[in-house]
Amino acid sequence: MNFKKVTVAGSGVLGSQIAYQTAFKGFQVTVYDINDEALAKAKERIEQLKPHYQRDLGASQADTDEAYNRLAFNSDLSQAVADADLVIEAIPEVVNIKTDFYTQLGNVAPAKTIFATNSSTLLPSQFADSTGRPERFLALHFANEIWRNNTAEIMRHPGTDEAVFQDVIAFAKAIGMVALPLQKEQPGYILNSLLVPLLEAAQKLLVREIADPETIDKTWMVGTGAPLGPFAILDVVGLNTAYNIGLAKAQATGDEEFKKAAELLKNEYIDKGKLGRATKQGFYTYPNPSYAHPDFLKP
Ligand code: NAD
Repeated sequence: MNFKKVTVAGSGVLGSQIAYQTAFKGFQVTVYDINDEALAKAKERIEQLKPHYQRDLGASQADTDEAYNRLAFNSDLSQAVADADLVIEAIPEVVNIKTDFYTQLGNVAPAKTIFATNSSTLLPSQFADSTGRPERFLALHFANEIWRNNTAEIMRHPGTDEAVFQDVIAFAKAIGMVALPLQKEQPGYILNSLLVPLLEAAQKLLVREIADPETIDKTWMVGTGAPLGPFAILDVVGLNTAYNIGLAKAQATGDEEFKKAAELLKNEYIDKGKLGRATKQGFYTYPNPSYAHPDFLKP
């Protein structure tokens, strides 16, 4: 892996974090977005990341300033990718927007440039042809709050070149991620392929009135040694997100239990301002949720 220059396309929630983390680890990063207004927002977002790096990673003010100074901002795509070794795409999760973007990018990027998508739900093979360089394209998927939730799922599609796959794995490690290679395409990658069924099963136990959230979480925690149960995880994800996912699933499958679970989240929690850990109220009350109490797991 000989990457020096990285361009991050899309500077929203994830793009700003990816750009800053990459710069924090010493790379020259160009941030690209559709216009200067979007880039101004990105600058604010990235400024707000500094205290997190100081608090969570023990970085000094100088470290965080130096990382910021390795960032350049550009709303002209050809200029933004002119000498890029790698472009990481974090633009909206909309098929047409991504397809158009890859068509344009394929036309203006140098032949050496590798493209990686941070898409959460779309597969790289959907866009491989529009890139014009399918062998230099794959998925590189990060988690929100990348500096501490430092997973990088690297997923190849059938046409990805082996050397490109290995280079991106090495790059992910170089920016402080735990690199998790996926040898084949898998919707939801590894993490969500495991997590989503667990969270859905927990919600179904609740709507069937089998047990309350604390009992369900306690079962999982005692039975597997996990530090959090599914309802504590839902509080971290945020109940609005869980509601939107549940509602979409209910509509797609016609499954009445998904619908009931979504309604329960809305009526009992979201409408009462209980959105999860961010609002200090969800299935648990924070900062001292009952599952963290020393007696919670005792006989
Ligand atoms: P976001 O809406 O916060 O940001 C999207 C950014 O893309 C905005 O700054 C927007 O101006 C910009 N944009 C729109 N069209 C563009 C274009 N044609 N070219 C360049 N930039 C363009 O979105 P997000 O939450 O950061 O998600 C971005 C991607 O990352 C999605 O594919 C999403 O699935 C994925 N992702 C998100 C999360 C998350 O927790 N938010 C986690 C992992 C992966």
